[in-house]
Amino acid sequence: VIRVYCKTIKDCNEHIGTLLVHRDITKEYEIANMKSEFVSTVSHELRTPLASILGFTELLLTKELKPERKAKYTQTIYNETIRLTSLINDFLDIQRMESGKQNYEKKYIDVISIVQNVIELQEINTSLHKTTLTVELENATILGDKNKIEQVFTNLLSNAIKYSPEGGNISIRIYGNEDIVSIDVKDEGLGIPEEEIPNLFQKFYRIDNSDRRKIGGTGLGLAIVKEIVEVHGGKISVSSKNGKGSTFSTNFSRITMSTNKVNEDGATP
Ligand code: ADP
Repeated sequence: VIRVYCKTIKDCNEHIGTLLVHRDITKEYEIANMKSEFVSTVSHELRTPLASILGFTELLLTKELKPERKAKYTQTIYNETIRLTSLINDFLDIQRMESGKQNYEKKYIDVISIVQNVIELQEINTSLHKTTLTVELENATILGDKNKIEQVFTNLLSNAIKYSPEGGNISIRIYGNEDIVSIDVKDEGLGIPEEEIPNLFQKFYRIDNSDRRKIGGTGLGLAIVKEIVEVHGGKISVSSKNGKGSTFSTNFSRITMSTNKVNEDGATP
């Protein structure tokens, strides 16, 4: 409420009316809510792997252990450290994206090598979960930031593993036509209830079903994926049947070799 006292300098001390100003603060309210949600998610998600690292390190330092036990605990510490690193990277990425400070270095990149790198990075994860991974690869070039595109498929593949039972089947397929390159990550895991599909790509959104409550996560992975895909002019979609598995499909514009030369390390266009 702003009280208006002056119409002219002359009647400056006279109260001549009251001006009501309504400002919609829904957005500010949402942002404040998101920030506090963010802080509590960050604290919770960081504390869990840290507690495990601390616990297993203490065991290694204080107990006489058989070599197999030692190896097992060391492996757990390694896995939790990897998890912690990717969590911190997710938090930093989303912060950078929101503040518009994320830099993308776009070059011509070979999609097969991206997929192969991602599979290599996830090797420990796939072997721990006894995943059977099938790949169908086709030569294709797109214009993109190599690290960011790798992050897209790392997030999609690690979700496929995470939301599948042990020993699940997962496939990655590169295909398309002369204009479009499509890359699908398909699993036969928990699937996604139809009504949840529109919410999946929102920041911090997690499906709160009993079948997945114990699976850790921040709800940032798919938001990051969508942002990166869209910055590259691409599209992401999902088709899924609850309990039967999901397919996340990405589409990018194909760069044709006849019109563009691609260096081994990806020439800057
Ligand atoms: P997080 O995995 O950290 O919860 P994401 O943004 O990666 O966050 O995913 C959001 C939600 O979408 C998850 O909580 C999960 O329930 C669901 N989801 C993502 N990928 C899959 C998948 N491949 N199969 C089943 N559910 C999935």
